Amino acid sequence: MSTSTILPVIAIHGGAGTMSRASIDAGQDRAYHAALQEILLAGQDLLARGGSALDAVSLSVDMFEDCPLFNAGHGAVFTHDATHELDAAIMDGASLRAGAVACVSRVRRPLRAARAVMERSEHVLLVGAGAEAFAQACGLELVAPDYFSTAVRRAQLERVLATDATLLDHDGAALTFATPPLDETRKFGTVGAVALDAQGNLAAATSTGGMTNKRVGRVGDSPLIGAGTYADNRTAAISCTGTGEMFIRVVAAYDICARMAYAGQSLDAAAQEVVMKVLPAIGGRGGLIAVDARGNLSLPFNTEGMYRGHARVGQMPVTAIFA
Ligand code: ASP
Repeated sequence: MSTSTILPVIAIHGGAGTMSRASIDAGQDRAYHAALQEILLAGQDLLARGGSALDAVSLSVDMFEDCPLFNAGHGAVFTHDATHELDAAIMDGASLRAGAVACVSRVRRPLRAARAVMERSEHVLLVGAGAEAFAQACGLELVAPDYFSTAVRRAQLERVLATDATLLDHDGAALTFATPPLDETRKFGTVGAVALDAQGNLAAATSTGGMTNKRVGRVGDSPLIGAGTYADNRTAAISCTGTGEMFIRVVAAYDICARMAYAGQSLDAAAQEVVMKVLPAIGGRGGLIAVDARGNLSLPFNTEGMYRGHARVGQMPVTAIFA
């Protein structure tokens, strides 16, 4: 496609889960929409000024990581041991370069560390203390681990500890905003962005605190290239949210690209099949955001809701929570 016909677009998600409409009051609903809108406008503006898809997804995830409403960076969920372990990944669809970090607890902005791994090391994934040392050597900001803690997340952990379940963050929303009995099957929260820029390049980024009450050392799909995050200019850019173990087992993000490349499926057909059939077949719950090289979008989820939105350059951003 000639680049002159490309309308740059960004899509974002702030996690999926079983938040019921009844559990979110009007004020909370407005707060989520406003946060999504602000992030979309910033990404849209960057793309409108000729910025790259890579920079647009980086900026969006930076903003999510600073916003305590979402389970990434400040406001991340707690592990079983009441600590935080953050995971993040970024991928450039033009070059297939990728970078990720997992189990970091002192890097203020994990996505920036993932991008540094991609751009400043010969590796793809660094974990734990080694990832933190690398981030520090790259001049990224380190913080005390309690920087990530919020009272809301601590209350979630305390409730979940009583059940010994792991909790998807925006099932967390049910916990946060109301006090229904915790449904052991309810549990997500992660943030992500995908974008297509004016040059026709795709990029994807994902960042998460994982799942409340997860075992220390557990790594989900988000930082695993192909599972929770993937981008290839020839097919699509994808960022996932949901029960990470199942997304890993079906290599969810890459499966969408493979279906497009090998079976000729459209983006939406491939994404719907993975989210509505492949994942549920093994009990996988959640959703994803995807954009292809023509600017088609697909934002399917198999839970009650997914915080999400998209913005094409020159058009009003669209945000949504429920189906
Ligand atoms: N997929 C993330 C993980 O398993 C959690 C989420 O999306 O809420 O770590």
